[in-house]
Amino acid sequence: MAAYDAIIIGAGPGGYVCAIRCAQLGLNVAVVEGRETLGGTCLNIGCIPSKALLHASHSYHEVHENFEKMGLMGGAPTVDWSKMQAYKQDVVGQNTKGIEFLFKKNKITWIKGWASIPEAGKVRVGDEVHEAKNIVIATGSEPSSLPGVTVDEVRVVTSTGALTLAEIPRTMVVIGAGVIGLEMGSIYARLGTQVTVVEYLDAITPGMDAEVAKAFQKILVKQGFKFILGAAVQSVTKGKTGATVTWKLKKDDSEASLAADTVLVATGRKPYTQGLGLEGLGVEMGPSGTVKTDDHFRTSIPGLYAIGDAIAGPMLAHKAEDEGMALAEIMAGKHGHVNYGVIPSVIYTTPEVANVGVTEEQLKAEGRAYKAGKFPFMGNARAKAVFQAEGFVKILTDAATDRILGAHIIGPQAGDLIHEICVAMEFGASAQDLALTCHAHPTWSEAVREAALACGDGAIHA
Ligand SMILES: Cc1cc2nc3c(=O)[nH]c(=O)nc-3n(C[C@H](O)[C@H](O)[C@H](O)COP(=O)(O)OP(=O)(O)OC[C@H]3O[C@@H](n4cnc5c(N)ncnc54)[C@H](O)[C@@H]3O)c2cc1C
Repeated sequence: MAAYDAIIIGAGPGGYVCAIRCAQLGLNVAVVEGRETLGGTCLNIGCIPSKALLHASHSYHEVHENFEKMGLMGGAPTVDWSKMQAYKQDVVGQNTKGIEFLFKKNKITWIKGWASIPEAGKVRVGDEVHEAKNIVIATGSEPSSLPGVTVDEVRVVTSTGALTLAEIPRTMVVIGAGVIGLEMGSIYARLGTQVTVVEYLDAITPGMDAEVAKAFQKILVKQGFKFILGAAVQSVTKGKTGATVTWKLKKDDSEASLAADTVLVATGRKPYTQGLGLEGLGVEMGPSGTVKTDDHFRTSIPGLYAIGDAIAGPMLAHKAEDEGMALAEIMAGKHGHVNYGVIPSVIYTTPEVANVGVTEEQLKAEGRAYKAGKFPFMGNARAKAVFQAEGFVKILTDAATDRILGAHIIGPQAGDLIHEICVAMEFGASAQDLALTCHAHPTWSEAVREAALACGDGAIHA
C-alpha cells in the first residue's frame, strides 16, 4: 500500500495534465487508468484520431479540387482506407507514447486498472488499496445516445465506431449537427460519402453565433452536405446492410425516413463515473450526471476533487487541461484559477470555425450596447491564394469602452487565429489595441486586425 499526495483517476487531458503539474510542484502523484494507453478519450478516440482523418481527407480533397488549378498535374490519388486507418493509429500511438514518456520524466506512477473509491482517502484498483491525501476524479465522458436507439458500433455508430469503420460508406446519416457530427461528416463527405445530417433544432451548431452558424451551413451545403433541421428522430432500424432513420418534422408532424450504410449518432456526451462508488460515498451530483464541484473543484467529500468532462462546463480537452493545472496548484497550496469566460471552441472542418466569449445573440438578450467589427476573408490576400476566401472574422466589443467581449471566426486557420483574441481578452484589451498592433503580411491574422479596425474607423481592405 503506497501513500500519495494525490491519486488521479483517469489519464485524459484533465488527469494527465493535473499529474504533470502536481509533479512539477513537488507532489508525489499516481494516475490510475483503466484503458491500455494513456491520453483518455482525447488522444485515443477523440481529438487526435479525428484530426488525423480530417487532415488526410482534406489533403485528398485538395489534390482533387485544387492541385490542377495551381498547375500541379498528374494522376489523382485514390484512397487506401486501411492505410489511412494505419496512419491515424500511428498518430494516436505517437501521442499516447508521448504521455508515457512525460510520466516517466516527471516520475508519475501509472497504476493500471479500473479504480473505485471505497472510502475517503482510499482508491481501490483490483485487490490493492492505495492511500492518498487528495483524490481527483478525471474520468471523462462517454457518448450519449437517443432513447430506443441501439448502437452496435458497426452500422449504427458513435464517434468511436465512426473512427474505425470497416469501409468508407456510400451513404451516412448523422444524427446531431454539433461539432463531432460535422467533423466526422466532413471526413466522410470528402472521401465521397453522401452525408445527410438530421438535427432536432432549427439551426446547426447550437449555441454558436447565429451569423457564423448560417454561413457555416451554407458552406457545408456547397460541399455536398444535406441538412434536415427541426426534425425529431423517432427510430433507427437496422437492416442487413445498413440502417434506416425515421424522423418527424416539428413544424408539421410529417414523418420521413432515410436508409444509409452507416448511421452516426452524434447527440452529445455524458459524464462517465461508473464503478467509482460515488453513490456509496454520498458524493453530491449535479445536473446531467455531472459530479458537483465548487469553484476550487472540491466535491462534497473532503479531499475528493473532480475536473474535466466529469464536471459541469464545455466538454473540451483544453478546458479539462486548464482545470487540471489549476487544481494541481490548489492541491499544492497555491492559487489555481480557470477563466471560463475565455475558453475558445473550435470546429476543425474546412473552413475552420472558432469562437470565444459572448455571441451577438447573448449581447442582444442582455440589452448591452455593443459594436460588431467584421472582415471577410475575401479581402485577405493569403486566403485567396489558398482557395479559402469564404468566411469572415467578427469581433464584438463594448460600445462605450471598446473592450473585446467575444469573437467568431469562420475561415482558414480560424482555430489558431482565435488565440490572438483570447490573449487580448485575458489582458482586457480593446479592439483598438489589436488594430494598432502591426500584423505581418500576407497572413490570415491580418483579417483579425481588419475586423478590429472595423470596430473603429473601418477596415482598410473591405
Ligand atoms: C470524436 C471526438 C472528437 C473530439 N475533438 C475534440 C477537439 O478537437 N478538441 C477538444 O477540445 N475536445 C475534443 N473532444 C472532447 C475531448 O476529447 C474531451 O473533452 C476530453 O478528452 C476530456 O478530458 P478528460 O480528461 O475530462 O476525460 P477523458 O479524456 O475522457 O479521459 C478520462 C479517462 O479516464 C479513464 N477512466 C474512467 N473511469 C476510470 C476508472 N474508474 N478507473 C480508471 N480509469 C478510468 C478513461 O478510460 C479515460 O481514459 C472530442 C471528443 C470526441 C469524442
